[in-house]
Amino acid sequence: MSATFIGMPGNFPQNSKKAVQNSQLRFNLRKATHTIRGKRASVVGELPDWQELRAAGKAIKDHTLHHLDRYLLQLEEAVTRAGGTVHWARDAAEANRIVTDLVKATGETEVVKVKSMATQEIELNQALAAHGITAYETDLAELIVQLGDDFPSHILVPAIHRNRSEIREIFLDKMPHVTPDLTDDPPALAEAARLHLRERFLRSKVAISGANFMVAETGTLVVLESEGNGRMCLTLPETLISVVGIEKLLPSWRDLEVFLQLLPRSSTGERMNPYTSMWTGATEGQDFHLVLLDNGRTDVLADEVGRQALRCIRCSACLNVCPVYERAGGHAYGSVYPGPIGAILTPQLRGMSSELDASLPFASSLCGACYEACPVAIDIPEVLVDLRAKAPHAAAERAGMKVAGWILNDHQRLAKAQRAATRVRKLVPKRLPGPLSAWTDTRDIPEIPEESFRDWWERNERA
Ligand code: SF4
Repeated sequence: MSATFIGMPGNFPQNSKKAVQNSQLRFNLRKATHTIRGKRASVVGELPDWQELRAAGKAIKDHTLHHLDRYLLQLEEAVTRAGGTVHWARDAAEANRIVTDLVKATGETEVVKVKSMATQEIELNQALAAHGITAYETDLAELIVQLGDDFPSHILVPAIHRNRSEIREIFLDKMPHVTPDLTDDPPALAEAARLHLRERFLRSKVAISGANFMVAETGTLVVLESEGNGRMCLTLPETLISVVGIEKLLPSWRDLEVFLQLLPRSSTGERMNPYTSMWTGATEGQDFHLVLLDNGRTDVLADEVGRQALRCIRCSACLNVCPVYERAGGHAYGSVYPGPIGAILTPQLRGMSSELDASLPFASSLCGACYEACPVAIDIPEVLVDLRAKAPHAAAERAGMKVAGWILNDHQRLAKAQRAATRVRKLVPKRLPGPLSAWTDTRDIPEIPEESFRDWWERNERA
C-alpha cells in the first residue's frame, strides 16, 4: 500500500540533496522525461494553431473559475436529474468519511480504483484501510507504486523513477501467479499486470474514480486514459463513486473539444488518447455518487495571483521540462503534486506552516520552461515569486534584507558600503558561516573588485 506523504520530514533542499546522489534515479528520470518531452514537442509542433488553442484553454478555465459557484450548481442539478447523487466535501476528512460510508453501505470490503490525483491528495486508500476496506489501484504505474510500497513521483507516470528490471522484481515479489521466467520486456510486464487485474475487475462491486473534466451543462464526467483499465472500473462494478476537485469543471461540450486536444498532446505526446470514457448520472444497474472536493481550493481561488494554479489539467508537461524535477525527482517535493505545479499548488492547498511546504516555492530555477510548456498558460514563475514573498523567512535573512534595503535605498549609503567592501575584500571568506552557508554551499561568493564602478566612473569623468 502506498504510504502517506504528510509529515514527511525535512524540506525540499534536504530531500533533493539525497535524490541527486542516486545516479540510477537520475538516469531513469532523464531517459523518461526526455522521451516524453520529445514526443510532446513533435505533436504540438504539428498544430499551427497551438497557441490559439492554449489561449482558448486558459480563457475557458478563467471564465469557469470566475463563475464557479453558478456552474457547480448547474452540474449538481444535471447529475441529480440523471439519477446520480452529489455530495459536497469541504476537506479531506469529510470526503473520506463520505466515501467510506458509501462503501460500507454496499457491504463490500474491496474496491477497485481508476487512477486519480484527488483521491491521493485526500489519502483515501489509507482512510479506507482504517475501516477494513482494501483499495486496489488498477492503473499500471499506480499498481507498481502500490505493490512496491512506494510513493508516486510523477503526475502521469507515478512509477517514472523505476526501470524495467526494478518493476520485474516488484512483480516477482508481490504478484502471486508470476513465475521466475517473467522477463523485463514491457509487453511481458503488461501481460502479468493484466492477468493480476482481470480477476479483480470481475470480482469488484465498487469502483472509485476521479475525473479529468466535468461538463456542467449535462452533468457528464470524463476520464482520459491509455490502458483501458479505467473503463473496466467505470463500467463493471455496481457502485461507482467519483471524487473530483471542484476546479475540474467546464461549462459545455463545446469547451471540452479544446481540452481533448490540449491534454493528450501535452501529457503523453499523443494526438488522441486511446480511451475516453464519459458518463452522465447513473446508468442501468449502477449506482453513481459524485463527491465534489474543495480541500483548500476555495482559498486558492481567493488569491489573485495564485488562483491560476486551478487552471491545471494535470498533464505533467511542466514536470517533463523542468531541470529541477529532472534531477531531484518527484519524491523530493513530498506531495502528490510534484514538479513545478506541485511547487505552487501544494503550498497553496496545504499552507506554508511546515518546513517542507515553505520550501516548495524555492524549488525552482525560475527558468520559465514550465510556463512555455503549460497548455493552459499558467505563469508558474509568477506564482512562485509571489509565494516566495509570502513564505516565512529566517530571522537572520529578514535582518539581512532589512539592512540591504536600507543601504540600497540611498546612493550615498551605497557608495560608502561599496568603498568599505573594497577595503575588506581580502578578508571575505569563500564560504559564509552558520545558516548563511546554505547560500554558499552551491555558489561562490562573487569577488569584490579593487574599486567600485561608481568610483572608477567618477575618477575617469574628472580626468
Ligand atoms: S501546470 Fe500546466 S503543464 Fe503543469 S501539469 Fe498543470 S496544466 Fe500541465
